[in-house]
Amino acid sequence: MKKEVYPGIFSIKEKGSFGIIKPPENIYILAGHDGLIYDAGYGDKKTVKYLVNEIKKIENKYKEKNEEFKLTRVLPSHAHPDHFSGLKLIREYLGVKIVLTKKTAEIIHNKKSFYKIFETNDIEDYLIARRNLWRKIKDAVVKKLSRIFYRRIYGLSFIDDPDEIIEDNTEILINGESWKILPSPGHAIDHIYLYNAEKGILFSGDNVLRTITTWLGPPSCNIKDYVNSVESLNKLPNLNIILPAHGSPIKNPKERIGEILKHRRERAQQVINLVNAHSKIGISPKEIVQKLYPNGKKFLIQVALGWVCLTLKILEENHLIKRDVGKKEIIFFPSDKSEN
Ligand SMILES: [Zn+2]
Repeated sequence: MKKEVYPGIFSIKEKGSFGIIKPPENIYILAGHDGLIYDAGYGDKKTVKYLVNEIKKIENKYKEKNEEFKLTRVLPSHAHPDHFSGLKLIREYLGVKIVLTKKTAEIIHNKKSFYKIFETNDIEDYLIARRNLWRKIKDAVVKKLSRIFYRRIYGLSFIDDPDEIIEDNTEILINGESWKILPSPGHAIDHIYLYNAEKGILFSGDNVLRTITTWLGPPSCNIKDYVNSVESLNKLPNLNIILPAHGSPIKNPKERIGEILKHRRERAQQVINLVNAHSKIGISPKEIVQKLYPNGKKFLIQVALGWVCLTLKILEENHLIKRDVGKKEIIFFPSDKSEN
């Protein structure tokens, strides 16, 4: 399904499956004589063929009106599999150039450079005291299964031969108009925004979504960077509309940005309160999540553990809490500083 979300900008919605494991995704077409495809979506043949078909429909409309339509490039917002997997087939089917920022290019170069970032066991610094043999076997199985999942279901494919590499912070011309590439790390270290100051249009990737909160979890996310990247949008003059990678356009940008920042502050406060309320016996990240989501399903609990661990990391860095390594779990206590 395609939709003109702004004159000359089309959103094509790629279907998802398995609920939030493979969410529906927006690919944006900046139509014109030197157009660009923003985000590459999933990489399985069926999805890319669907995308190409929808693009052809837009092209036909332009031709009927005797307007020029030529897409020259595809640019992903960040190196998450649902955003870059389609690159290779999109180039093959449409003959466009693959443009990557330096950071994204480094990550998606090959299997090794990609998994180096996503398969570290950082989360365990917050969850378990010791990795016994059973835990190691379990980790190896999970790793294997998730690699199969990304390859088969997302159509994951790497790019060792991009056509153009650009700076992480730069300006590019699209259809003769100047667009800013703005680094916006946090959800992903290489995440970028694409912004047109004159029209006030921002492509926000996964950072600002209309109704849902974005994924934040170890090892590659950072909440402090994320908050800064969202806050930085308040400084953009003339921000009119935000076009996110998932969900519909955000027509009240300032309000939504405010909501997201408030939500993050409240979440951090909830975690501090829970640690303070258990100052005698301490509390583990799992117990924190169980208190926050008493009826949460297993998958939600797993997702929530991500941001809870990242929040604990910041609180620890700010010396507001301290840890104690128990027999099995890591337990958190208020620090002496916060008790005073
Ligand atoms: Zn993402």
